Amino acid sequence: MELTKIILDENEMPKSWYNILPDLPTPLDPPLNPGTNEPITFEELEPIFSTELIKQEMSNERYIRIPEEILEIYKLWRPAPLFRARRLEKHLDTPAKIYYKYEGVSPPGSHKPNTSLPQAYYNMKDGTERLTTETGAGQWGSSLSFACNYFDLECKVYMVRSSFEQKPYRKSLINLWGASVVPSPSTETNFGRKILEQYPDTTGSLGIAISEAVEDAALNENTKYTLGSVLNHVMLHQTIIGLETQKQMEMVEDYPDVIIGCCGGGSNLAGICFPYVKDKIDGKSDVKILATEPSACPTLTKGEFRYDFGDTAETTPLLKMYTLGHDFVPPAIHAGGLRYHGESPILSKLVHDGFIDAASYHQIEIFDASLKFARTEGIAPAPESSHAIKAAVDQAMECKRTGEEKTILFNLSGHGHFDMSSYDKYFTKMLSDD
Ligand SMILES: *Cc1c(COP(=O)(O)O)cnc(C)c1O
Repeated sequence: MELTKIILDENEMPKSWYNILPDLPTPLDPPLNPGTNEPITFEELEPIFSTELIKQEMSNERYIRIPEEILEIYKLWRPAPLFRARRLEKHLDTPAKIYYKYEGVSPPGSHKPNTSLPQAYYNMKDGTERLTTETGAGQWGSSLSFACNYFDLECKVYMVRSSFEQKPYRKSLINLWGASVVPSPSTETNFGRKILEQYPDTTGSLGIAISEAVEDAALNENTKYTLGSVLNHVMLHQTIIGLETQKQMEMVEDYPDVIIGCCGGGSNLAGICFPYVKDKIDGKSDVKILATEPSACPTLTKGEFRYDFGDTAETTPLLKMYTLGHDFVPPAIHAGGLRYHGESPILSKLVHDGFIDAASYHQIEIFDASLKFARTEGIAPAPESSHAIKAAVDQAMECKRTGEEKTILFNLSGHGHFDMSSYDKYFTKMLSDD
């Protein structure tokens, strides 16, 4: 069948998330308590996270049922469409087939509400009244605000200052769904005040914003902290992307040779590829999986695989992951969602063990790829997602050279409607490659 838009029926939406932990060939190195260097315990995480989310973080159950209340809200935009990029293929004159899963159809415009909803839901079930978080580009902050609104939770967002200034409308969207937002470093936490004193002109970083949000949760009653990427339970919730995609690819009787996703903390790539990584672990597939990142924040391509803190103030557990060091402050590039010093421990392990490859790109070539995509497929991509587009285009051009008819699948993690000031800078040649 010559479909362009491959759509699943609402009742074919997956009813469980896929947990890759029990299928990893060797166990994940556990998060450590930095005081004792011993694996962190359930009790140590309880002041910060909801109990169900901690259980999921450590779960060995392969499929975890999605609560009915969450499925009902997912239905506002899920199942998300899978597109065959026929116009892009034609423009590139490639024998390759290019598919993309479009997560920009969610109300906040990215894949992030796939996890903000369950995080808010389980906290509500636990009796939490208020959630704190950090946000880079503002995608996570707006997604958490969106979710807290549905479950009647208060929400406080610490937004990296460079994004707060570059993307004022993300801030408005956070306010629209009811959360409050301050630029980070802020004057509202001890750590924020300390950083501002030392570096009054800092553009901020996710590491600093995380420290502020964790401090806020630790010091305030009935307040818990949430993270939009990196942690195992976030990867779990995002697998709905790949589970849907597998059904959609079956509908057109195709199977990917290459799967691509951009990588900040790793969640949208994990989401689309983990169900396929299972095929790979089971020996049923040799699909190539490619993680793409900015060369200005090259965690997987230039970082070290070791234990490190998730935040700048050294308040989080130590995670075994690829890291550029927890005090790394990346330049204020326009893919704000990819400016994180660390990476999901599961994804890091899969890269380290050779199941996933990584590549990095400069800012201007990313926007060149965005333009090609927008002028063929119509969608204005988020600069983050354009890292995946760039790799897909490169793969398709390689197929043109070799004549191979590969099936390329990438995750279009979000739209760029709030990134127009970045596009303007690109058009007026004000962007630079750091
Ligand atoms: C947050 C974000 C990312 C990066 O986060 P991951 O956890 O690596 O997926 C990528 N794309 C968009 C659109 C985002 O909002």
